[in-house]
Amino acid sequence: EAAKTRFVERNPKSKQLFEDACEILPGGNTRTLLYSAPFPICMKKGENYQVFDEDGHVYTDLVGELTAALYGHSHPLIQESIISTVKNVGLNLGATIAQEAVHARLICQRFGLDKVRFCNSGTEANLHALAAARHFTGKRKVVVFSGAYHGAVLGFWDGVQPNGVDKDDWVIGKYNDLASARALIENDDIAAVMVEGMQGAGGCISGTDEFLLQLQTSAKKVGAIFILDEVMTSRLGPAGLADIVGIKPDLKTFGKYLGGGMAFGAFGGSADLMAVYDPRSATSLAHSGTFNNNTLAMNSGYVGLNNIWTPDVAVEFNKMGDAFRVKLQELTKGTKMSVTGRGALNAIHFSEQGERELSCREDIVEDWGLKDLFFIEIMEDGFWITRRGSIAMILGTPQSELDRFCECVSRFLERHRA
Ligand code: PLP
Repeated sequence: EAAKTRFVERNPKSKQLFEDACEILPGGNTRTLLYSAPFPICMKKGENYQVFDEDGHVYTDLVGELTAALYGHSHPLIQESIISTVKNVGLNLGATIAQEAVHARLICQRFGLDKVRFCNSGTEANLHALAAARHFTGKRKVVVFSGAYHGAVLGFWDGVQPNGVDKDDWVIGKYNDLASARALIENDDIAAVMVEGMQGAGGCISGTDEFLLQLQTSAKKVGAIFILDEVMTSRLGPAGLADIVGIKPDLKTFGKYLGGGMAFGAFGGSADLMAVYDPRSATSLAHSGTFNNNTLAMNSGYVGLNNIWTPDVAVEFNKMGDAFRVKLQELTKGTKMSVTGRGALNAIHFSEQGERELSCREDIVEDWGLKDLFFIEIMEDGFWITRRGSIAMILGTPQSELDRFCECVSRFLERHRA
C-alpha cells in the first residue's frame, strides 16, 4: 500500500493523462499489455538505452519495446535511413520497390529461407503462415502450446482459446511435454504445428532441444507444416533460435526489430510452400496489405540488420545477456525471485519453484503481490521493465547499468526478506 501511494504521488502527470485518455480509449490505451493498475506510466521520449516519462523520471529501458527496440531509441544509422528515405524516396508509392527484394534477400540469407514475404506485424506473419499451411495441406487444425503468444488474436494463455478466431481450429498441448505433443500431432488431422522456441510473453520459458526436435519429427511424419515463431527469438543468435537448436522448420515467422523500429512482420520458408503466395499461379492465396512494403520498414529494417545487427554483434550481445542472467540467477538463488531466459531476452518471476523447475506456463505460480512491489520499486530505482517481468535488452545498454540492476535486485530481496 505504501509503495502504491508513493507511485501515485510520484507520477501525477501520468495519472492525469491516463484519466483523460480513459474518456476516449477503453482502459486509456490501445495495448493491453501496457496497462497496469492503478494507471500506467506515460512515456514522453526515448534516447539510446533510456526512456523519459511525463513526470520527469529517467529510466534505463529494459522493456526494449518487447524486442522491437533492439537498436536503441535513436541509433544514428536508423535515424539517417529514416530521414533519407522520407526526403529522397517518399513514404507510400503504391508500387513494388527495389528495396523489397534487397531486404528480403538479406533476411533469407541470414535466417536460411528460400523465400520470404512481408507484412506489418508478427501477428499477421503468423496468420499468413497458418493460411499457407492450411492451403498446402488442405487441413485446418493447428497444434499450439499453452502459454504461447503468437500475436494479438493468437494468445494461448493457460490453455485458454484466443479471441476472435474459430475455437475448433486449435489443439492446445503442454509446452515441453514430448509424449503428449507427439500424441496430439500424430493422432489427429493436423495442418500445422506452431511453436515458439522459447515462449517469450509466456515468461521466457525455453523449449528443450528434444521437445522442438520431436515436434519437427512428428509434424514431418504426418505431413503437417512445422512453423517456428521467431518473432522474438530471431535475435538470440545471428541466424535465430532454429540455428542454435539445429531444427529446420518448414516456415518461420518474424517481426519486431527486423523492421528497424517500423511496424513489421515477415514469414518465409521453403520455395514450394511459399509458392502458395505466388500471384502468377491461378490457385495462389491472396496476400495484400497497404503497408507491406512501406519504404521506411524496407530501408531501416535493412540498415539495422545489415549494418548494426551483424552476426558478430548478435553473438556478443547475447553473451552479455547470458552473463547478466547468470549473475541474476546466482544472486537470487534461494530467494522467491527467479530468472529465466536465453541470451539478451530474459524474464523475472516471483515463484517458489525456482527457474530450474519452470518448463511450462503451468509451472509458474506467480506471487503477484511481490512482483507488483518489485515493479514499483525497480522503477523508483530508474529501471523500466514490464509488469510481467520481461527484460529485452537493447544495444548500447552500459554494463554498469546491468550491474546496478543486480545491486537493486539484491537490496529489494533483502529489504522484503523475499
Ligand atoms: N509472436 C511472438 C512470439 C511475439 O512475441 C509477438 C509479439 O510480442 C508476436 C508474435 C506478435 O507480434 P506483433 O506484436 O508484431 O503483432
